[in-house]
Amino acid sequence: MKLASVGLLFALALVTFALPASAAATWQAGSAREKITPAAGHWMTGYGNRDRPADGTLMELWVKALAFADPSGQRAVLLTLDLCGIPREISDHVAAELGRSHQLPRSAVMVNVSHTHCSPFIIGYARGLRILPEDGAAKAAAYATELKVRMVRAAQAALAALAPATISWGEDQATFGFNRRENPEKDVPALRAAGQLKGPFDPRVPVLAVKSATGELRALLVSYACHNTTLGIFQWHGDYAGAAQLELEKRHPGATVLFAIGCGADINPAPRREIAHVDQYGRDLADAADRALAKKLTRVEGKLGSAFTDVALRFERLPTEQEIREARASKQPGQNAWAEAVASDLRTKGDKILDYSYPVQAWTLGNLTWTALGGEVVVDYSLRLRKELGANLWVFGYSTDVMAYIPSERVLAEGRYEGDTSKIPYGRPSKWATGIEEKIVTATHDLVARTRAAARK
Ligand SMILES: [Zn+2]
Repeated sequence: MKLASVGLLFALALVTFALPASAAATWQAGSAREKITPAAGHWMTGYGNRDRPADGTLMELWVKALAFADPSGQRAVLLTLDLCGIPREISDHVAAELGRSHQLPRSAVMVNVSHTHCSPFIIGYARGLRILPEDGAAKAAAYATELKVRMVRAAQAALAALAPATISWGEDQATFGFNRRENPEKDVPALRAAGQLKGPFDPRVPVLAVKSATGELRALLVSYACHNTTLGIFQWHGDYAGAAQLELEKRHPGATVLFAIGCGADINPAPRREIAHVDQYGRDLADAADRALAKKLTRVEGKLGSAFTDVALRFERLPTEQEIREARASKQPGQNAWAEAVASDLRTKGDKILDYSYPVQAWTLGNLTWTALGGEVVVDYSLRLRKELGANLWVFGYSTDVMAYIPSERVLAEGRYEGDTSKIPYGRPSKWATGIEEKIVTATHDLVARTRAAARK
């Protein structure tokens, strides 16, 4: 009796001391997913020629969540989605829900969409693309409500699944992307073979591996900076990013594979438009990820730092009444939708239509830093930021709010689609004012420095 009590006391003491000690020593991670494939009959987005609803599913669409807790217990959750774009309102709603349920600060919730064009029309995203018929708009509204529920549920399940983990990272390369402003698409295979592709391009494929205490791969995050636009079919599909996730989940049973897109706004895959192409790029990206995993990875140690800010950007000018009148009279659905979006914003916001709160976010996980930029960000940003802030920086585009293309100063001055005319599908008054690159880069430097300092504490 007496011995048993001593034994029990000893066991309790072990538990009491062992728990905080092991919790203090390790990072934790957890992952989860929810299906977000709409039914057939929902309208699609992405291309201007989406003139009818989707007629079926070729690949399921997902929201996937990867949650982290650092050794001090600070938590953060990344959500990646097989969607073309996302409005700020949805990301903020999900972050607010997680703030209520898990006391996460705004900066600890990161949202990235893969930019697949075989995905549903999202209200508030690319408002200048097309005005939906009434029943299409009603379905899109119902979809957005359900999407928010599933995003929150996936994030909460990932947080509930937090378990001690080894987190490590590395990178390799893939070359199916090319700079679409500098090379005619039809010439790409020959130019690539001859080593004569022009223009900036970032071939890096960063990977983050989450392994269980017993060494099994539990989750894998892969990134690449290239438009997810191999296909133009009228069926739901995750495009090359979806194909890569499926391929890697087949190769690594039991692992949740996530994809976060980089600064690929002026980068396209080529050749494209056939299912064989999308399957090939899925395998190419999976091969690059597996090559990265086979190398010596850098282990995440230290703490988590997160920061979020809004940068005050400005569009160059108000549209003239004549521009709006002509667009309204146009036979092109895109012109009408642009006129409608801009006229409606002018009615409610007046001159304030020129101001835009642009989201910039950063996380530092020990010795690895991520920055998540809103909009369709051109490759110049990732090349510049990694040169200035180090190769242990990953730059994601298409995060939090996909409101427009985000040209560098060079691309803005050159104009064309990414620098100017993409204002039409995005329903924006004009191109951005000059100075955009410096504002975004300065804010990113600031957040990266703050999160790196926090991770060292
Ligand atoms: Zn795009």
